[in-house]
Amino acid sequence: MGHPMFQYDARATEAVFDYCRERLSMDPVPLDLGGLADLPTAEMDGLITEEGHPAEEVLDFFRERLAPAVVSIDAPTFLAFIPNAPTKNSLLFDMVVACSGLNGTSWLEAAGVVIAENQALDFLARAAGLPAGAGGVFVSGGSAGNLSGLTVGRDLGRAARPHLDPHRVRFAISADAHSSVGKALHVIGVDALVVEPDDHRFTRAVLEAALAADDHPEDVIGVVATAGTTNAGIIDDLEGLGTFAREHDLWFHVDGAYGGAAMLSRTLAPEFAGLRHADSFVVDPHKWLFAPLDCAALLYRDPTAARHVLAQQAGYLDILHEGDDADYEWNPSDFALHLSRRARGLPFWFSLATYGVAAYRTAIQAGIDLALRTAEIVQEYDHLELVRPAGLSIVMFRRPGWSDERYTEWTHDLLRRQIAFVTPTKWEGETIARFAFLHPDTDEALIRTVLESMRD
Ligand SMILES: *Cc1c(COP(=O)(O)O)cnc(C)c1O
Repeated sequence: MGHPMFQYDARATEAVFDYCRERLSMDPVPLDLGGLADLPTAEMDGLITEEGHPAEEVLDFFRERLAPAVVSIDAPTFLAFIPNAPTKNSLLFDMVVACSGLNGTSWLEAAGVVIAENQALDFLARAAGLPAGAGGVFVSGGSAGNLSGLTVGRDLGRAARPHLDPHRVRFAISADAHSSVGKALHVIGVDALVVEPDDHRFTRAVLEAALAADDHPEDVIGVVATAGTTNAGIIDDLEGLGTFAREHDLWFHVDGAYGGAAMLSRTLAPEFAGLRHADSFVVDPHKWLFAPLDCAALLYRDPTAARHVLAQQAGYLDILHEGDDADYEWNPSDFALHLSRRARGLPFWFSLATYGVAAYRTAIQAGIDLALRTAEIVQEYDHLELVRPAGLSIVMFRRPGWSDERYTEWTHDLLRRQIAFVTPTKWEGETIARFAFLHPDTDEALIRTVLESMRD
């Protein structure tokens, strides 16, 4: 007999598989209560002991007491922040990954999964119009992707400008860039030239004006564009900013963590044509590409250059790095700030291979079409006002007369009644309501119910 923790336990296995089967078969999953639930804090005492407890018992405790205290981000009634709605096959394959003991770090250890992840990355690179040879890695999220992409941009930008004081280099970003972009620049010690476009859309003209008004425009070594702002769904002028960056030898990073998926949309694809100029590009399969958390694709136009900046060197890793660029075998760990990594691109790969690209296109389009329809519906109601046209799958609207507290009460009330999870946002200093659609089964009837709930 081996160690007890490594013995196959048929009963525990059945119990867990039954739980997963039950969860997978729910249509839809219950929204549940999150932080509004009663938490079993007292019962948690004594759970972790020297002897341990039977698996079924702890699983039951999770099912009965902990799971209901988590809002299901994959419910079609989750309309807050940016939801996450993994496909059934991506969830199933996440279990395969969990049971397979994979370390997706290197070619030597995991070539079989590296080629599968790379196939999914290549699909995204081609959809973005990046040249052959583009590639990268799946990282934990848009924040991690932005951090690695901007690190590479900083180092290559500095190397290309040896005359410049390395501490003075800056990236031009929009005031509407995601908070993770500012944080990434803070971490890598690079200042931002923050521009504030009047209508929140970062364009070539706005960038040119900001550089013309700046005392040291030569310090700017890169530009960050957002392909779908998180709050409002605004797509920056990718074509204009990208061509400007090309002409001036600036690193062009595109943060498409949320909106990048809409490059697959029938109606919006033209707005993403400028993605082909990106030096680094981030899109999160765990947002609008229907993969489980946590999964973001980070792509580089020139992965070799990125690898030279980011690969970790250590005696015990030398065997992974033998040979030169010509016979380099792909180590996913070389393209971001991590080393050990879950092969987190595989659930997305499996889902894409099984359902096919057309299914992704229609699922993404559903969110865009529902946002356009919702903007029309909001305008039908006298008690509501549309704040701006729908952007991607986001709709912003206000309930005139409501205070900040009233919006918060409304959020809690809808959640308590298990109707929907909708949260307010701030826009130009004002608290307003916002929908973010993602699940293709979210329907118009639900939208009307939520809008009706705002009458008084
Ligand atoms: C969500 C988001 C991020 C952060 O991504 P995480 O996956 O949450 O780390 C960055 N940029 C944009 C535009 C986003 O929408």
